[in-house]
Amino acid sequence: MQTSISSMKEMVQEKWNKRPLIISGPCSAETEEQVMETAVQLARTGKVDMLRAGIWKPRTKPGMFEGIGTKGLPWLLQAKKITGLPTTVEVATAKHVQDALQFDVDVLWIGARTTVNPFSVQEIADALRGVDIPVLIKNPVHPDLDLWCGGIERLQKAGLQQVGMIHRGFASYGNTEFRNAPMWHLPIEMKRRFPEMLLICDPSHICGNRTLLQSVAQKSIDLDFGGLMLETHIDPDHAWSDAKQQVTPERLAEMLDALVWRFENTDEKEFISALATLREQINQVDDELLTLLGQRMKIADKIGDYKKDNNITILQTNRWNDILDRAFKKGELLGLSREFVTRYFDAVHLESINHQNKIMNS
Ligand code: PEP
Ligand code: MN
Repeated sequence: MQTSISSMKEMVQEKWNKRPLIISGPCSAETEEQVMETAVQLARTGKVDMLRAGIWKPRTKPGMFEGIGTKGLPWLLQAKKITGLPTTVEVATAKHVQDALQFDVDVLWIGARTTVNPFSVQEIADALRGVDIPVLIKNPVHPDLDLWCGGIERLQKAGLQQVGMIHRGFASYGNTEFRNAPMWHLPIEMKRRFPEMLLICDPSHICGNRTLLQSVAQKSIDLDFGGLMLETHIDPDHAWSDAKQQVTPERLAEMLDALVWRFENTDEKEFISALATLREQINQVDDELLTLLGQRMKIADKIGDYKKDNNITILQTNRWNDILDRAFKKGELLGLSREFVTRYFDAVHLESINHQNKIMNS
């Protein structure tokens, strides 16, 4: 497929505005054949709008595959010529920007490890001054929304008109079921701050494995994200980076088919999305409440230790009356009925007593 430069620009525009926008391709460009074959298979599905491939890979540890480098850019250009798919690559320096532009990359993205560094984002923004190209910016590795917003502002201040966001989850200490915890309330907050801006989800880097991809992709759709970036490889198990999370183009097509895009009718769609957003907020608050209750019980355990050491009874009526009085007053200010506050505190108190009982009799 041969496409002129101006019609390619139009096509990129059309894709940029399409919902859902589906971006797919390998984590890393590895060989010419791998890039070409992945692109051809993706194009054949008819479900993919843009081809992604990492050319420069910021890796956690040295010695891991750090990307094929500039050598891979002609492969992407060739893949675009053959399939008609616009291309997108990750840039982290001004030099990356120049190289990518020289090989007609259509959309740039800024990776999570770059968004964390305002110097790097500013360097990229400066290199893009006066250039008309869409740029996607991933959330920073850690959950800092102001840093993400700052990155967006740097790009916009450099005159970029088309800026979009990619949610790829946040690093959290300790093992969770996700490689990067989705913390859905955070992209939801970004949608609130930038209601008109494209926001897509990258389930591959959230999950870090194949099993969770489908449910994370579905969740993002239910939350009214504007599209998906999913990593695909012709031979995922042997990928040079992120092997565990990549799927074949064929599997991608099956996954996209299985997604429920909810309602066509915009009123209903808005309703569903508003509902999903509110439910996510409730889940978040519930998680926080449970965490706090867990902390409260730990403090009660400590008090239990003291009481044991000093031979004091568990129940001290005055203290309990004080707690309830405080709670009634505060509850009233917050619109919580006396009846609810009583029932809630009875349950918390009982759990506390059980904890202390265990400690004092252990
Ligand atoms: C990637 O998209 O391959 C990548 C390196 O992602 P992230 O910046 O989200 O870690
Ligand atoms: Mn990757």
